[in-house]
Amino acid sequence: MSDHEHHNLGHFDIAIVGGGMVGAALGCACAERGLSLALIDGQPPQRTWPAGQVDLRVSALSRASQRILERLGVWPRMVELGVSPYREMQVWDAVGGAEIHFDSADLGEPDLGHIVENRVTRLALWERLEATSGLASGHSESTHSAPNHSRSSPSARLELLVPAALAALEIDDQQARLRLADQRQLSADLVVGADGRASFVRETLGIGLDAADYAQRAIVAHVEVAHWHRETAWQRFLPTGPLAFLPLADGRCSIVWSADEARAEQLLALDDAGFIAELEVAFDKRLGPILSAGPRAAFPLNRQHARAYVRPRVALVGDAAHGIHPLAGQGVNLGFLDVAALVDAIDHARAKDRSLGSLHILRRYERARRGDNAAMVSAMDLFKRLFGNRNPALVGARTLGIAAAEHLPGVKPLFIRQALGLGKDLPTLARAG
Ligand SMILES: Cc1cc2nc3c(=O)[nH]c(=O)nc-3n(C[C@H](O)[C@H](O)[C@H](O)COP(=O)(O)OP(=O)(O)OC[C@H]3O[C@@H](n4cnc5c(N)ncnc54)[C@H](O)[C@@H]3O)c2cc1C
Repeated sequence: MSDHEHHNLGHFDIAIVGGGMVGAALGCACAERGLSLALIDGQPPQRTWPAGQVDLRVSALSRASQRILERLGVWPRMVELGVSPYREMQVWDAVGGAEIHFDSADLGEPDLGHIVENRVTRLALWERLEATSGLASGHSESTHSAPNHSRSSPSARLELLVPAALAALEIDDQQARLRLADQRQLSADLVVGADGRASFVRETLGIGLDAADYAQRAIVAHVEVAHWHRETAWQRFLPTGPLAFLPLADGRCSIVWSADEARAEQLLALDDAGFIAELEVAFDKRLGPILSAGPRAAFPLNRQHARAYVRPRVALVGDAAHGIHPLAGQGVNLGFLDVAALVDAIDHARAKDRSLGSLHILRRYERARRGDNAAMVSAMDLFKRLFGNRNPALVGARTLGIAAAEHLPGVKPLFIRQALGLGKDLPTLARAG
């Protein structure tokens, strides 16, 4: 084999850059459709961890996300690896005192969603990809099931390129051309940027961002509380930022504490006893004393939204397209809906025998998602500003707003239906029934 052949991986229907939760989910949907696919990621999924150890990176997955993951065939494996349902939600304002409570039972639903370690979701998706490619798991290099380098019949070829990093991307009328850091090359009809907040695909193509730094950090940790969390997601709005206690199946809570830079710095520097004392005050001991706190990690917070999601032969999904404040735990849920909407556009292209990279086709995806995501980016921004404020007029307004939401008939069920993803205009993979 010549050097050239060795480095040329051939042509694919789709190249996905980034195999995080969002890119791997898209990979599963494409593989299931018999598309030829290359998935490129810098890091293989974590395969094992000590029994009983819960990772610090967790996400609250909505019902719509669950449905997508069920349809991709990975939810049962996630349940096996461990998911924690939350059945109620309690949100209250530290300054005005207003409070609102959501209960899945009000809609006859078993839960509002699940708290899941990101590594659980990612591993289940990768195992599925590996099973689809007909290979045993455990490899760490490029693999493929049915080598077929012909452009005319590129059926069901799946290359998992990991660890690998995209180093260059060029788009022309015919194809997208990708070069990896190790000099291997490939081409595709469509390249999808699922490469996270600092997306190489987005930046290389010069797609602009609307962005603002919140000058806040989210501190995450797992804590043991004296009282049972009642499978409830708790959130208290403090003037310095929101504090969430998310219920874990082992009885502990996973906290996400967003705080202004200086405050975050101070909280991170405390020893466990000092941190617990501050946390008890901030959480108003709602679940009694905090008995212990594990290691802490922190993430800088900003909001960002790509000015375009698509270009000819290119689509951005997940955090590559949008990054929001984690106060309502929506980030990856939006990413899974992006995947479902892009899959609808892909199915449409195939039904009409159009190229997957056609801008006309990709705009269907952008139209389906950009408006909704923009609304969520703005809503989280508004919440953050509204609640991060002691101005008496604003405190009064938000107290009234929360009271209205709590007591006006029809408002809460509407909100819960939204949270559960029971709306009508969802992409196919996310729809109920
Ligand atoms: C504190 C905190 C709490 C959160 N809580 C929630 C929550 O409760 N619910 C929720 O829905 N969301 C939550 N989020 C958001 C959620 O974590 C993100 O939305 C989600 O991880 C985005 O997934 P992704 O696959 O789009 O991107 P990422 O997870 O960033 O994955 C990107 C992937 O691309 C790969 N990559 C990057 N560059 C390259 C390259 N050049 N070449 C090859 N590969 C590359 C990376 O290795 C990585 O695997 C939270 C976020 C934070 C910070």
